[in-house]
Amino acid sequence: MSEQHEHDRKDGFVPSYILEKLAERGNETAKETLIVTERIKKEDLKKNEVESIIAGAVGQSKRLNYDSETTEEMQRKLVRNEGDGPVQDQSVNNAYDFCGKTLEYYRNKLGLNSIDGRGMNVISNVHFGKNMLNAFWGQDQLSFGDGNGRDFKNFTNGIDVVAHECSHAVTQFMNELIYERQSGALNEHFSDVMGSAVKQYVKGQTAQTADWLIGDEIVGPEWPGIALRSMKAPGTASELDDQPAHMNDYRELPLSQDNGGVHKYSGIPNKVFFLTAQAIGTDPAALLWFTAWHNREIIHPRATFVEAFRAIDLAAEQLVQQGKLPREAVEAVRNACREVGIQILSPVGHER
Ligand SMILES: [Zn+2]
Repeated sequence: MSEQHEHDRKDGFVPSYILEKLAERGNETAKETLIVTERIKKEDLKKNEVESIIAGAVGQSKRLNYDSETTEEMQRKLVRNEGDGPVQDQSVNNAYDFCGKTLEYYRNKLGLNSIDGRGMNVISNVHFGKNMLNAFWGQDQLSFGDGNGRDFKNFTNGIDVVAHECSHAVTQFMNELIYERQSGALNEHFSDVMGSAVKQYVKGQTAQTADWLIGDEIVGPEWPGIALRSMKAPGTASELDDQPAHMNDYRELPLSQDNGGVHKYSGIPNKVFFLTAQAIGTDPAALLWFTAWHNREIIHPRATFVEAFRAIDLAAEQLVQQGKLPREAVEAVRNACREVGIQILSPVGHER
């Protein structure tokens, strides 16, 4: 496969290398999920047939919920349209409500009209696949597996899962970070940032009261831990969580391993966000990251951690000047970067 296609191969919510570890332990649904995951990643490379869902210049986004009825077919049966009342099926209602809360957060806190900034419709497919252990953003829509009830529960149970996957769409439309190595880890990181921010917004939590876990509401009784990841303490969420929390433990990985560590190394910037949010609050920190993410000159498709945090540092200075962030925001980001070993470069490229 050519390199330029590589970035379209977005992983599901559960990284393939985690599913491989489960499969090695003889887990049959993990094996089946890997096959489905690979197929969806490949099909995502095809020219999109659903571009019509992008609703022109400025539209009013609709939530369209479909039931895949345990097949791997997207948009199989429309079960809840925008404005329809709740249905019997809790997965449908969760997808509808959590997409709604995610859109509300982006609109009210960050000024973004839907996930593409232009009022795109948000399509969800629930009961996708047979007991599939994953959730995806692919082919410009969301798909959620039911889980097997042992390793993972229904993936619509987690507001952070829904907001994380929606945020892959936001990144796709905002700066197209290539899904490999550090740019891929930044892509994953942004989805965890927004997944956590939306989760805290819905649950009425603050940076201090939140647990900062990712995927804690979808792991089942046989999952060897309490969540998939921890933004507060990377590497501690489960036996399979191998995220380092410092650049000293960063090693170049081959692309065959988690696309060069897109899930493994997202923990390092995640920790910076957690520390910044402790200092200035989660919503201001999310505004800062979101603002920086618009800086396509610095956060280019292959941006590194150092480049991304230079954009965040610049955005912090601008937002402080505009009175949109407290004065301590700039120092908070720099301190947090120092704590995980990420350099902050000044505009002329010298280390501060
Ligand atoms: Zn992701």
